[in-house]
Amino acid sequence: MMDNEKAKELREDFPIFRSEMNKQKLIYLDNAATTQKPEVVIDKITKYYENENANIHRGIYKLSEEATKSYENAHKTVANLVKASPHEIIFTRNTTESLNLLAYTLGSVAKGKDIVLTELEHHSNIVPWQELAKRNNMKIKFIPVKADFTLDYAKAEKLITENTAIVSMNHVSNAVGTINNVKKIMKLGKSNGAITILDGAQSAPHMEIDVKELGCDFFAFSGHKMLGPTGIGALYGNKALLEKMPPFLSGGDMIRTVSFDKSTWNDLPWKYEAGTPNIAGGICFATAIDYLKKVGLKNIDRWERELIAYALEEVAKIKSIKLFNPGVKNSAGILSFNLGNIHAHDVSSLLDAEGICIRGGHHCAMPLMTKLGITGTSRASFYLYNTMEDVDALITALKKSEEVFK
Ligand code: PMP
Repeated sequence: MMDNEKAKELREDFPIFRSEMNKQKLIYLDNAATTQKPEVVIDKITKYYENENANIHRGIYKLSEEATKSYENAHKTVANLVKASPHEIIFTRNTTESLNLLAYTLGSVAKGKDIVLTELEHHSNIVPWQELAKRNNMKIKFIPVKADFTLDYAKAEKLITENTAIVSMNHVSNAVGTINNVKKIMKLGKSNGAITILDGAQSAPHMEIDVKELGCDFFAFSGHKMLGPTGIGALYGNKALLEKMPPFLSGGDMIRTVSFDKSTWNDLPWKYEAGTPNIAGGICFATAIDYLKKVGLKNIDRWERELIAYALEEVAKIKSIKLFNPGVKNSAGILSFNLGNIHAHDVSSLLDAEGICIRGGHHCAMPLMTKLGITGTSRASFYLYNTMEDVDALITALKKSEEVFK
């Protein structure tokens, strides 16, 4: 069970919270950008390089064999997390690279001319598709977001047709925190013969994921947003499609045979992991997942819902607050708002002086901001080590900021 006491206890596992920020207790509320790392992950990085480092898949010696085993086991750990098989899990640098891998390889496999996205997407789930659309003369359509920050599912039914090649959308919006009804959209995509993709950057760290149940062909996520190191991410992929698609990057390790005039590809997932990968990153990503599993993704999900419910209740008491949030029922642990006419960067700076880290800006969702008629928002985003006191500190600091600009 997660409660405020447990969150405080977990906070102790994170060395960064032993330091101060601007001579104050550090309150970290920018978890949608990246998360802090527990001691077990930091220790594993050191231990790996001190005792276990070797290149994988090549050395016929114990050190290399052990590194290979750990790296392959890490694929198993990630696969278990999203209820997939290890050969369906490709390690990438991050969600962005996972989505780019798809945009570079699906062109020859997808049938149809339309790519359907939503207006809630992060740039990393827009720009690669714009590039594919240019290369293959395809058209991008966007499922609109409604005034309540949820998607217009009725419009989605009209936009997704037999001409739809690809449907790609985020599971949870990083900009306004909406938990989207992805099962509905994936099903719509599938029934029209489209390839279905989920950007799980903001869901995999916070809730239990079953890729088969969600109905997606691909699911992309980042290690650094779930207590792991930067530079490591993953892509789950439907085996039949992964076998049909051409490789993304080519070179060493992704081949079975090479001659002077042609090459053949390695088994999955190695076909998509060219060159020496981020071995330590992959192994430590698995350490982070072990930690998350110990706490329990269900518990984390529940705790973040409690935090956001409390935060929504309390911010509503601030007079000049304008919320960009789909309401407690549809909301993940992300609180997007503007404070009167104060620029989001100014709000961030004022809170920084109180030791509170939040994000201010467009959150890599410029098209959404344009649609909302704003340049950006302030965003507080929660994780398992955040407490009710963190929410209280945020509210107090926001009230103080409001006074400063009066
Ligand atoms: N999609 C969403 C919804 C995100 O929140 C982010 C990170 N802010 C990304 C994609 C990109 O993740 P990364 O920078 O780790 O590639």
